[in-house]
Amino acid sequence: GIVCAAEPELQIDLLDRYLLACEIARIKPFIIFNKIDLLSPEQHSQRTALFSLYRQLHYPVFFLSNKTGEGLEPLRQHLNGVGVIFVGQSGVGKSSVIRALIPTSEARVAELDSLHGRHTTSHTELYHLPQGGYLIDSPGVRAFALSPVDHTTLAQAFIEFRPYLDQCRFQDCSHLHEPGCAIKAAVEQGFISSSRYDRFKTVLASFPKSTY
Ligand code: GDP
Ligand code: ZN
Repeated sequence: GIVCAAEPELQIDLLDRYLLACEIARIKPFIIFNKIDLLSPEQHSQRTALFSLYRQLHYPVFFLSNKTGEGLEPLRQHLNGVGVIFVGQSGVGKSSVIRALIPTSEARVAELDSLHGRHTTSHTELYHLPQGGYLIDSPGVRAFALSPVDHTTLAQAFIEFRPYLDQCRFQDCSHLHEPGCAIKAAVEQGFISSSRYDRFKTVLASFPKSTY
């Protein structure tokens, strides 16, 4: 589960990097957009439009407010009986979501990486959900860099690229500058969003040259 929020400012490139990491690890991600109580109606519809891209890609998106409780029930249903980990920037409300889902403090059953038992918010914790399943809270991160992968693996991690990947003229197409690139054609025709294609280029450029 990738947690982001109205505040701190949504970092869409960070969200994409988390999604890519999940795809590469074959984990099914979902998105929590928290603190919707802080949004004006205009901002709310802007964010709805933004996240509709991710809904089209079949990533579940949950709009949530811990403050008002709005959106908590659909999230609870989604988590029923499954194991999840929450990741996201520090301050987006991961701990608050967990407190809302698990009212009793005894729910905390294990400290995964702290042997010395000091209660800080900086370690990873495992919680059992009342209705079955479990939840792992990871410490907030300031930055998250995707481990370098080759360009084929990266292209596969953009799930909307997959139907086009075997249609490029060159089998080892990097989807950057080759003629007959099916990905570039799909972007031009509007089948792939140009913001996601831009992200592909940015992420690839962030890797050391030797990996692609
Ligand atoms: P974490 O670092 O991701 O675990 O974030 P916390 O759960 O500690 O929350 C960070 C801050 O955001 C706290 O001050 C919370 O009270 C606040 N917060 C969490 N959820 C909401 C929400 O839905 N609405 C608003 N307005 N504030 C929230
Ligand atoms: Zn191509």
